[in-house]
This record gives sequence, structure tokens and C-alpha cells, in this order.
Amino acid sequence: MLQDARNLPDGQVLETDVCIAGAGAAGITLALELLDSGIDVVLLESGGFNDEKSTQSLYSGTVATERLHSPPDRYRQRRFGGSTTLWGGRCVPFDAIDFETRSYLPNSGWPITREVLEPHYRRANALCEAGQFAYTTGEAFSAALQPVIRGFGSGDFSTNSLERFSCPTNFGLRYRARLAAASNVRVLLHANIGRISLNDAGTMVREVGVRTLQGKACSVRARHYVLALGGLEVPRVLLANRDIHPTGIGNARDLVGRYYMCHIAGTVGSLQLNLPRADVSHGYDLAESGVYCRRRLALSAATQRRLGIGNFIARLHHPRITNPDHGTGALSLLYLAKPFIPYEYAKRLHGDETANWRTWLQHVQNVLGDPVDTAAFLWDWYRLRHLASRKFPSIIVKPKTNCFSLDFHSEQQPNFSSRVTLNGAQDALGMPQVHIDWRYTEWDIRTVRCALNLFARDIQASGIGSFTYNPASLETEILRDGAYGGHHLGTARMGTDSHTSVVDGDCKIHGVQNLFVAGSATFPTSSQANPTLTVVALAIRLAAHLKEKIHQERQPSALHALPPSVTPSVTPSAYRSRSNRPVDRNVPA
Ligand SMILES: Cc1cc2nc3c(=O)[nH]c(=O)nc-3n(C[C@H](O)[C@H](O)[C@H](O)COP(=O)(O)OP(=O)(O)OC[C@H]3O[C@@H](n4cnc5c(N)ncnc54)[C@H](O)[C@@H]3O)c2cc1C
Repeated sequence: MLQDARNLPDGQVLETDVCIAGAGAAGITLALELLDSGIDVVLLESGGFNDEKSTQSLYSGTVATERLHSPPDRYRQRRFGGSTTLWGGRCVPFDAIDFETRSYLPNSGWPITREVLEPHYRRANALCEAGQFAYTTGEAFSAALQPVIRGFGSGDFSTNSLERFSCPTNFGLRYRARLAAASNVRVLLHANIGRISLNDAGTMVREVGVRTLQGKACSVRARHYVLALGGLEVPRVLLANRDIHPTGIGNARDLVGRYYMCHIAGTVGSLQLNLPRADVSHGYDLAESGVYCRRRLALSAATQRRLGIGNFIARLHHPRITNPDHGTGALSLLYLAKPFIPYEYAKRLHGDETANWRTWLQHVQNVLGDPVDTAAFLWDWYRLRHLASRKFPSIIVKPKTNCFSLDFHSEQQPNFSSRVTLNGAQDALGMPQVHIDWRYTEWDIRTVRCALNLFARDIQASGIGSFTYNPASLETEILRDGAYGGHHLGTARMGTDSHTSVVDGDCKIHGVQNLFVAGSATFPTSSQANPTLTVVALAIRLAAHLKEKIHQERQPSALHALPPSVTPSVTPSAYRSRSNRPVDRNVPA
């Protein structure tokens, strides 16, 4: 059932089994997994179906250094579907090493292994519409593929690992009808969670307060609550609720909002290959059902351990678009079109300090001098991106000179000083805004430097060309675009020890019996991988956990121990006889 909180009577109390706050990838997945389970669900979503300025501005806040991190109302969407209304759809599972406690990486180690997540990853892949769960060329393709770079040999990098691409699936659009038709799920739009009321001991949530921008208020009482608000909003809501715990919920050890990670990413160096152009496979391979896959240069786990560095992958990439020396009309066209490209996708086209009218003119000349290839590129882009239901994932232009750059993605160290806090200002609903102080470490840079050096050595040794970059300016180069946008990780980290983590292995806040977190806030380490597939897999796992827990709670022997979170007038027998629909109750103001 879909409802709008703006149409509810003021002061209404909704009672349910599970209250999920946030209808992005995590919240929608949880609700889908609980469909027809006999468990009542209320899914609270701040936004509506479309982009609304007033709702999006609830995401406003401040950043310590804008050069390093985008403002918090960028790279996320406050609407039904969350940031999947904007995402690129790249799906990659975390590697086994990412879950391990690594002696050379302080604060590493998950309470679960990759094996535990494996079945959930398979379901997650289906929900993301990324085809089979097959992330190596051997698993995904029956015939051998042409090598990425013919003649390239390396003991440190593999070229057979894949990333797969979702449509990209907008979870809001794709799953809206299914949720609307569900008898046990009530989606409440324009419903902003703010207040979390705990019992006096601070060990259990009694109810959560919901407000609309039009001034309506209601509350939800549930057995269990899940915050699926994204990696910046989870710490915001936990830190803002200080009635019982003076430093915020789950924050007795000052860990909420700390260890904030994105990814270190960028485009770097010059790879000149002395090979026929046909010997370089640049772009996408099509798997079953037309799913786009891309092969990467992936640093092996053994090399990471040997050198004590983080996880790293790279893809062949066209030369930097902003520099017109590439002489490619299609790339110059993109440069010239940047005012029309959404901020999140145009960011890499901005910020080139050396650009002036001469640069602009040179780009125009590139377009005019390369009309056939530029027109072909435009047509392909329109056909494969705008007309196709499964979108071509990114710009692929094969350089005429066989000179590439490397587009890399690497792991960030969990760093206590990198953090999300609250600033003094409040949004239109009176919620404190976030302040982001994202930091990186020397270890982060060392990972990239070591990986690039290994790659340069292997290219040289293979006798197929050279890879060069300027070590002196590496740090500046890789931070040119700042923290990788849209990946907000680690702010409510998962672990077994409440002294060093915020949630346990079931994603439950330590010390609060019925409050869970779904999403990348729980990641203790960042991997090289984009987060959403793992966010969805963890949400599927959490749904299974909640089902089991509620099933146990409903056993006759457990009824006496029911959480007193639901209104006291609801007796154990009422639970048993309740219909599938969430119960509404008006309370006097
Ligand atoms: C431009 C861009 C490209 C990306 N590309 C990729 C990619 O290729 N691959 C990948 O893996 N990831 C990618 N991502 C990241 C991906 O979008 C996120 O990992 C994913 O959306 C996280 O899902 P989530 O449900 O945890 O959070 P979100 O999608 O942020 O959802 C949170 C939901 O909570 C709601 N909400 C917030 N506050 C409140 C409140 N107080 N009350 C009620 N509801 C609230 C929001 O409206 C939203 O619907 C990209 C992100 C961006 C911005």
C-alpha cells in the first residue's frame, strides 16, 4: 500500500512489526524481502516519486574542504528510490580479503566472511538486474575472450575479474508497483524520521517520530526499527537523538560518524601501447541477456598482503577529456557539453585551472576536424543510452594513438579522524545538519603508488609499451576530484566488540535491542568495490534475520518476553490475531 504522510490525520500512531526508515536500495530491498511474510512493515520515505527541491534541501550541510568532498546535498537523492534514481549501476561484490582482519591495516576485519554473504549476493544481483552472479570471465563467458592487452603478463594483476552493470535499476521505479500491491507493507511518502524515543534505560526504541514539511506529525511503534537512510544520514539521525544517551544513540564510545570512508579514485598516467589497435580490448563485453560487463586490472590478494597495501583495480581509459591535446572530437564534444551534464557526472570535466578560451577553441576545432567519428559517437550514445532499456554504461572512446590513461578505484583506510558530525545549523524540520570532514591517509596514497609502479614494471617487462606518471604530483592528481562521490561508508561500523564498533554482526546497534542499520554505514572497510551490491546483499541478510527473530518472538513460549515497544494496550493474543494490515491509532495531541 502506498500512502502520503501529508494526508494522514495529525498525531496518528501507526503500529507495525518492522519500521524501515528510508526507501533507497537498502530500505526497498528489506521491504521486498518481507513481502508476504506475515510481518507488517511500515516503510518511511522522506521524499515523493519525483525530485522536490524542498525535500532535497533537507540534505544540505557543510564540508570541511569542498575541494576534497562535495556538499552533502550532492551525490545523493532524497526521494523514493534514493540515490538509485541517479546511480551508474556498476555492480561488484567485495573480495574475500576485504572481510579479513589484515595485520597491516588497523581497524580492518568484518564479523562476517564473504562466504556468509555469498547466497545473499546472488539474490542481490537479481534485484539489481545485473544478470548471473558471475564475476570472472571463466564463469560469465563460455568462449575465451580476446585479452584486454595482448601480450600483457603479470603476477600481481589479474585481468579476468569483472564488473557487471545494472540497467541501471532505479529501485523506486522498478519495485514501486510490487510494494503498492503488497498487503503487509505500507509505504509512507513525505515521511521524515527525526525523533527516536528510547525507553528510560536506553536499551529499546519505543517509537519514532515522523514529520512532514507541511507541519504534520505522526509516530510509528514497532517491534523492530531499521535505519536505511544512507551512510551520511544514519550518523546524523543517531547523533541528533540525545534525550537518553547524551552523546547520541550507539555513540557511547564516540564512534558514530567516525571512520568515514569513500574511495580513492581518479584518472592518472599515460599508457602508450606499441601494439596494433586491434590488440587492445577497450570497453564492454556483453554477457547473457545483454548485460554489460567490463574487465579490470585487479591487484591480487597475495600482492596486497606482501606489500601491506589496500585493494586496487584499474580500467583502461581515454586520455583526460579536459586536455584538448587528445585531438578526439567525441571527447571534446563532452567537454563542451558539460553545462548540460548533471553535476555528479560532469564533476571530472570541471576544475581544470589551466582552461581558458584557447582551450575551449581547441576543443571546438577537435569537433569540427573529426565530424564523422563525432557524429557516429553521438548516434551510438543516443541509441544505446537513451533508446535502450539497458543503458550503455559509460563513455568509451578508443584513442586513435593507442595512448590510454588508467581509471582506478582503490581502498581507503578506516581512519578515526575522518568523520561526519553535526554542525550548529538546522534544516526546515529542526534536524541538525551534517558536517563532513573527509580525510585520507598516506597509506591510501601508498596503495595507489605501489599499484601504479607494479603496473609500469609489468608493461615494461612485457615489451608492449610503457606506462608513465609523475610520482611527485601523484597525490595532487588523484585528489583532483576529491573523495569518490556517492560512496558514504563506515559511519556506523560493524563489529563484535562494542568498544570498537557501532553495530554487531546482525547490523543491530550495540546495546539497543531493536534498532538496526541497513546500508554502507555499517561497512568496517571499503574494498575497491562500489558499495550497492553489498548494501543490497546485507539488506537481504538482515531481512532473513528479522524474519527469524519475529518468528521466534511469536512462539507461545516467547510471548511473555515481547518487547514493550508496541503500545501496552496490544496484548500478546492481539499480536497473534492481528490482520496483515498495519494498525492505525489516533492519539490525542
Ligand atoms: C552519481 C552516483 C553514481 C553512483 N554509481 C554507483 C555505481 O555505479 N555502483 C554502486 O554500487 N553505487 C553507486 N552509487 C551509490 C549508490 O547510489 C548507493 O550506494 C545506494 O543508493 C545506497 O542505497 P541506500 O538505500 O543505502 O541509500 P540511499 O539510496 O541514499 O537511500 C536512502 C533513502 O533514505 C531516505 N531518507 C533520508 N533521510 C530520511 C529521513 N530522515 N526520513 C525518511 N527517509 C529518509 C532518502 O530519501 C532515500 O530514499 C552512486 C551514487 C551516485 C550519487
